Amino acid sequence: MKASKQRQEIYGTPWLTMGLVKTFRTFREFAEAEIILPSGPREGLQFSTAYAPWTGLVLDEFERPDWRRIFIAGAVQSGKTLLGFCLPILYHLFEIGEDVIVGCPDVAMAQDIWSQRILPILNRTKYRALLPAKGAGSRGGRFKAVQFNHGPVLRFMGAGGGDAQRSSHTARVVVLTEIDKMDAPGAVSRETDPVRQIEARTSAYSDSARIYAECTVSIPEGRVWQEVHELGTGSRIFLQCPGCKCWNYPERENFTGWLEAGTILEARKAARYKCPGCGRLWTEADRLKALKRPRLVHKGQEIKAGRIKGPEPRTNTLGIIWTGYHSPMMTTADLAEIHWRAARTETEEDEKYLCQYIWAVPYQLKAEEDKLTPSFIQGHGGDYDMDGEAPADVDFLICGIDIQKFWLYYVIEGYKAADLTEWTLDFGVQEIIPPELRRTVDPDQAKVFDALDAVKETALKKGCRAIWVDTGWKHTASTRHIVRDWCRPDPQVFALVGRGHGQMGAISGSRVKGVRYRAGDGTLIHARRQADKSLLWFLDVDGLKIQVHHGFRIPLDLPGCHYLPRQIVRRENEWFCRHVCAEQYLAIQKPGAGLVREWTNPYRRWRHDILDCLAYARAGALYVKYQMDQGKIGGRKRRRHASYTKV
Ligand SMILES: [Zn+2]
Repeated sequence: MKASKQRQEIYGTPWLTMGLVKTFRTFREFAEAEIILPSGPREGLQFSTAYAPWTGLVLDEFERPDWRRIFIAGAVQSGKTLLGFCLPILYHLFEIGEDVIVGCPDVAMAQDIWSQRILPILNRTKYRALLPAKGAGSRGGRFKAVQFNHGPVLRFMGAGGGDAQRSSHTARVVVLTEIDKMDAPGAVSRETDPVRQIEARTSAYSDSARIYAECTVSIPEGRVWQEVHELGTGSRIFLQCPGCKCWNYPERENFTGWLEAGTILEARKAARYKCPGCGRLWTEADRLKALKRPRLVHKGQEIKAGRIKGPEPRTNTLGIIWTGYHSPMMTTADLAEIHWRAARTETEEDEKYLCQYIWAVPYQLKAEEDKLTPSFIQGHGGDYDMDGEAPADVDFLICGIDIQKFWLYYVIEGYKAADLTEWTLDFGVQEIIPPELRRTVDPDQAKVFDALDAVKETALKKGCRAIWVDTGWKHTASTRHIVRDWCRPDPQVFALVGRGHGQMGAISGSRVKGVRYRAGDGTLIHARRQADKSLLWFLDVDGLKIQVHHGFRIPLDLPGCHYLPRQIVRRENEWFCRHVCAEQYLAIQKPGAGLVREWTNPYRRWRHDILDCLAYARAGALYVKYQMDQGKIGGRKRRRHASYTKV
């Protein structure tokens, strides 16, 4: 049998018993033959992978010799404890017949883990005969280890307490539980990290060691998410759409229909999973059908034409996640009820529960705590003046312009080419129509051109390499597109329109080579040739604004940070900082779409045009850097009228 051959590779030389090679059953075989379910709707029935076929995929993955560490983070009520905790313990104790160390946050939990999680399953197997009749584990009371009648020892180790208890015993197999609770708050040195110390109990076994961990995802920086997704294979259970046959992983944002419901009963009835491929709204029957034929896909891989495409992540940590939508113990209606209730209470605890226990994704800290504030930004003052010389590290300058009906906003930003560290060098408002005339005069071409010319003069005097102008505003006094007309003749001026994340497909014009750039974070900047032969740039403004805010989150003097001149830090120009903070990138609940992150102006008390200007300048900076990296333009310092290539 192939599996038993694999097993010889995992465990080295198999036991020799009376001249015969002892072979072991696979995890799947062991579980289906020995385990009786202790609770849930199928209590008292034999465990079977046929009930939820993805459990079979998980167990098959346990067999692979590639994985030395196995981290399981699934939804609640989905058999996670059985698969990721109890089964490995029983399998290694009784099928292989070897010692197992259980690592938990506190060794005082040992009795509870033993009596509430392990014994209910163990007592329904034939191995209960191997329980010791006397001593630890035979009755209640406190203990740290149980020795079974056939020899192997189950030992509990806590993350707390002294190190002595963790250094005196070794085993090939360690099974960890609730590892995020073992993360001490604040910085922990690697030597004193309790999870690593418990894991180190296997070090004598080198590559043949096995570490299992069953856990709940906490926050993005928490250990579980790091192990499962960042360091591990980030493997997910994919389901096939009964409509378009595409394969996808059920994400929370596609769980819809329940939010608009007026009552909990309506929510239960109306909830659907929306296929990201074809938009089909999966019924419960669709779900059950899809759950019959799941596939396990590692991070970075996808399924195309029925085949898994892409390389496996290069790691020895298997990390598997699944959601409540995969759980055979919950229905679409049950999930809808949980969501509907949570949306109405709007407490942080409910939101946390949905993230961590239903969708198995990390819980982001509350958006409020994460918000940029004007006073925070004012702390980003650099040691320079707006009207003085630009700081020495500035390699090139870009101007960004945002046009309103009666006035326009502009910023002039300096950048260091290497890491796009940014200095705001100038900013302001240029009037198109003075306030006293706004009731009677509509802006015409001459007035708009005058205002733009004035800003351009300032920008060129400062040494700007390029001017990026939002042309989304169409002045109604003219049938022509005045702003685009102004941009067209000058190769240093870039006409742009802003788009949100979801609107990047909304473009016009024909393709042009060499005018497309996608930043590392996915932010896209590209241009199309319009009917009048000019280029129009389409910017992912959502992505650019994230980059602008990120610059303010980077502490001063670190690469990529954003400096402000003394003038802005002063009180009279606080409005600049308010503009930057007016919009925040928040997760909000949207009918029909679920939880989405988008730029919102939560209080609507401040305008945000300066943030837009900064985003446009940022696009210019990314494009200059891209062209420099390609060798298309030189990086000489602030040349006036630089040979800026524009297709
Ligand atoms: Zn579909």
